[in-house]
Amino acid sequence: MNACVLRNPAPVETAPLQFMDVPAPEPGPDQVLVRVRSCGVCRTDLHVVEGELPPRKSPLIPGHQVVGVIERLGQKAERFPLGSRVGIAWLHQTDGTCSYCRGGMENLCDKPAFTGYTVDGGYAEYVVAPEQFLYPIPESFPDQQAAPLLCAGIIGFRSLRLSGIAAGGRLGLYGFGAAGHVAIQVARHWDMEVYVATRDARHQRLALELGASWVGGTLAEPPAKLDAAIIFAPAGEIVPAALAALRKGGTLVLGGIHMSPIPSLDYSLLYQERVIRSVANNTRRDGEDFLRVAAEIPIRTRVQLFPLSEANRALQILKNDAVSGAAVLVPDVVAR
Ligand SMILES: [Zn+2]
Ligand SMILES: [Zn+2]
Repeated sequence: MNACVLRNPAPVETAPLQFMDVPAPEPGPDQVLVRVRSCGVCRTDLHVVEGELPPRKSPLIPGHQVVGVIERLGQKAERFPLGSRVGIAWLHQTDGTCSYCRGGMENLCDKPAFTGYTVDGGYAEYVVAPEQFLYPIPESFPDQQAAPLLCAGIIGFRSLRLSGIAAGGRLGLYGFGAAGHVAIQVARHWDMEVYVATRDARHQRLALELGASWVGGTLAEPPAKLDAAIIFAPAGEIVPAALAALRKGGTLVLGGIHMSPIPSLDYSLLYQERVIRSVANNTRRDGEDFLRVAAEIPIRTRVQLFPLSEANRALQILKNDAVSGAAVLVPDVVAR
């Protein structure tokens, strides 16, 4: 099969992913083989490919927002019939036995596997995954539009939940890429006023189109105090500015897996019971709840398509914040 293979992490400008022919994977007993129809490109992929996340497997096929069709079942797999359309997300598998898994916090599992990081992912024509960690994709979503829901969408949704913001509240979003443009649609559905801070003019325009009450530069001060804010951009210097925009008792959620160092803070920014918290991965419940809400709204994702062979270019564009919405790789349009 064709796949994009990472041997050594390096800046994406040097094209570290090699597009090549590799053997297709074999499903284990509890796994299924999925033919990839589309795979979203996530900022986490950039952190994996450039090595900000320590390498856990080499060679590695990245990619953890897979929409595809089940082509083969492992010996014991029985949850989905052949031909089912399913999604594969970042949380590839958990041990199911640690205290976090038993306590309903499988996102924090002590022995997790992550798709496209500790095991091969979806920058390929085929991928395998355990059937219990697959998501059925609601029919209303075309393949390409569904892919960014599987990480950007789910993490944005979990971030919103963890922010504790109530319907009608004022929400700040810092950074407006794949996750932000989905989160704003959920927030607007829940009648929140949304304030979007982002440096990119195209992202500001998209935010206004999607119902933002205000847009401004990354460190600009919103015109009203926020009940909660989410930082999707991986830039620690945003933290003091976002805290300064929060009302007393407000929560700041850090939505990324990697962030540059956070500068030292004057305690007055945090005092008055403001809270800073991170978001790590998601539970399957988050994913299922989100996909249901996404179909109800319905969420419309803005996607920019790239052939699988151009994954390096997609990552370069993502790095420059120049994707409008979410980047998605599509194997079928690869020239052979
Ligand atoms: Zn566990
Ligand atoms: Zn992701």
